Amino acid sequence: MAQQETDQQGYGPLPVDDEGFVVDTEDCEERERTYRERGTSRPITVVGNPVLHKECKDVTEFGEDLARLVDDMFASQRTAEGVGLAANQIGVDLKVFVYDCPDDEGVRHVGVVCNPVLEELPPERRALDDSNEGCLSVPTAYASLARPDYAVVRGQDVRGNAIKVRGTGYFARCLQHETDHLYGYLYIDRLSKRDRKDALRQMAEGTPRYPVVPND
Ligand SMILES: [Zn+2]
Repeated sequence: MAQQETDQQGYGPLPVDDEGFVVDTEDCEERERTYRERGTSRPITVVGNPVLHKECKDVTEFGEDLARLVDDMFASQRTAEGVGLAANQIGVDLKVFVYDCPDDEGVRHVGVVCNPVLEELPPERRALDDSNEGCLSVPTAYASLARPDYAVVRGQDVRGNAIKVRGTGYFARCLQHETDHLYGYLYIDRLSKRDRKDALRQMAEGTPRYPVVPND
């Protein structure tokens, strides 16, 4: 059997299932480690940093710089013990996120999405799940937030190939949360005034367990 075509990432494009969704559940351990070990962990930006509160720029160059950024994002995600990380969370104004997240069956998903767009769900798929949510950019805070328990994101991989990713449960929440980041929204922006205030109070009272970028 022929070896799969590889590039500087060490991997070819992810395989695709019958419905055209990327298969991001295979070789997770090895793929995540390869990215992370090449990368350098960077401190996380927190609520109030302007880069988190505006729409990021589209990715238009799918070369070495993007590959290095993705490596750093995986390294940073691991340091901060996150399940998803958007580029603006390490201060980079570009529409890219990475993830390493379990779905509703506990199956691990590892991948990268550039220029993500969330697909509108048909009403029958809009079952809301009312789980706790947190964000590396709002350290130590958690709040309950209702979101659909299924999500589909269209975008591009690190080489610019069109991809679509789908998720259930916690992974569906992650796909929505990370896409929100790249359009300038934090999960606390979706909370009631009171819950948002409470989340910010939790953050003020807590100490992050990973390096953060201080706000001016
Ligand atoms: Zn976040």
